Amino acid sequence: MTRTFFVGGNFKMNGTLDSIKGIVENLNQAQLDPKTEVVISPPFPYLLWAKEHLKAPTVSVSAQNVYDRDAGAFTGEVCVSQLKDVGAEWVILGHSERRHVLKESDEFIASKTKYALDKGLKVIFCIGETIDERKADQTMAVNQRQLDAVISKLDKADWEKVVIAYEPVWAIGTGLAATPEDAQSVHAEIRAYIAKKVDQSVADKVRILYGGSVNGKNAPTFNDKKDIDGYLVGGASLKPEFIDIINSRQ
Ligand code: PEP
Repeated sequence: MTRTFFVGGNFKMNGTLDSIKGIVENLNQAQLDPKTEVVISPPFPYLLWAKEHLKAPTVSVSAQNVYDRDAGAFTGEVCVSQLKDVGAEWVILGHSERRHVLKESDEFIASKTKYALDKGLKVIFCIGETIDERKADQTMAVNQRQLDAVISKLDKADWEKVVIAYEPVWAIGTGLAATPEDAQSVHAEIRAYIAKKVDQSVADKVRILYGGSVNGKNAPTFNDKKDIDGYLVGGASLKPEFIDIINSRQ
């Protein structure tokens, strides 16, 4: 089963119009691996600018959040139609910062995921355990619990528009990436769980990204891991080495 390699750049709450112009220009000037699907996720105010200025057909734009209502009195929230209106094709949901800093529940994230998919966005769905959960041998229990919330809401066809990002919380922004072996072992378990709870063909097709301190140097070390289908990149997506990560399979 060939799954298109996928590299996402999550800019988080970083950047200015000037710095985002620089990142987009970098992407436009680089020789990008044509076999890699790239999705960049700038903060909301820069989505339209990024969409209008990106040149490579392999690069698209993602939002970092969305609400599960069409429109109305929800101050501070953004709806799917507005994201599509400014050219976003994807949205990141379930990121650990939304789970742990903003206290979003599994249920709320799952509801937003189903809503976004029904209204025509594709979803980068993030899961991952904290360091305490890992130490307590709860890694798969936590990942399964976070997956269960969406599995119960999604139809089989929905999974074609979902990419799973396994992001151990202890590896995000710490410089301490999981070893390729550890990441592969969790990815294989996630794929097996999807096969068991959803369907074997969905499990064969769904892309599972690794996220957590990926950089230009360590990205190639994951290359021979058969269940790692790409990366979700935070800090390094703001730097020129993002191109090296995109091209890390070449
Ligand atoms: C992320 O925010 O999704 C992430 C993986 O961050 P970093 O690459 O900085 O660890």
